[in-house]
Amino acid sequence: MSRPILEVRGLAVTYGGAVEALRGIDLTVERGHVVALLGSNGAGKTTLLRALSGTLRLHRARVDAGTITYDGTDITRAETARTVAAGLVQVPEGRRIFTRLTVEENLRAGGLGTRDRAAREAAHARVLELFPVLAQRRHQRAGLLSGGEQQMLAIGRGLMAGPQLLLLDEPSLGLAPRVIGQIGEVVREIHAQGTSVLLVEQNAAMALGVADEAFVLDVGRVSLAGPAAELAQSDAVQRLYLGHG
Ligand code: ATP
Repeated sequence: MSRPILEVRGLAVTYGGAVEALRGIDLTVERGHVVALLGSNGAGKTTLLRALSGTLRLHRARVDAGTITYDGTDITRAETARTVAAGLVQVPEGRRIFTRLTVEENLRAGGLGTRDRAAREAAHARVLELFPVLAQRRHQRAGLLSGGEQQMLAIGRGLMAGPQLLLLDEPSLGLAPRVIGQIGEVVREIHAQGTSVLLVEQNAAMALGVADEAFVLDVGRVSLAGPAAELAQSDAVQRLYLGHG
């Protein structure tokens, strides 16, 4: 098997030198896999994403122990610009698109860091194919899109950076069930095209439906991990996250 695209080992993170948000996390994303990261409020999901995207210090947090290895390189304390250039791209929660710019301008902004023009154009074509609705509404202001379409645009903008590993932070948040289903389909398609995905979700049913493996965080520790299909059947996940029993 090829080396994992992401390996987190013994990762511990504190805020302000006091609040222990992560207490020794082990997590692996195999190349080309979709991995779901579940957990209730305050479990540490956002903190893990901050560690992966190199933004802990913006929140007065730091890594106290452990390592993050991306594609064979230690990025535990790497600058965001370097990891993005290496293909580790995050789609932030809450979509954060530029509402006054057009759909097309938003997408182009996602490709600004890509020097290779041919690669940029290929990514652009791929995004418009993946999201026909964005192609149709290319010249409209992004602020006029529905919530679901804005989420698609945020993902499309992330794909414009040519990711090897896409970090999706709660893409289903605030969306109607039908639209959440569409987001799940998009994740499947991104997966089918060979991009690895770490999918942080409160919506366990959607995440487990599209993921290969899943990890459950509980107060800063991994409490459950395994193949997504197995976790979906486990009593704890059924009870706590799928609303059965
Ligand atoms: P949510 O789904 O609510 O975002 P989460 O699983 O993403 O939850 P985190 O936001 O990572 O959880 O929070 C993990 C722990 O770190 C919590 O105890 C939280 O109070 C603490 N924490 C998060 N951000 C900060 C911060 N900026 N300063 C201090 N403590 C923080």
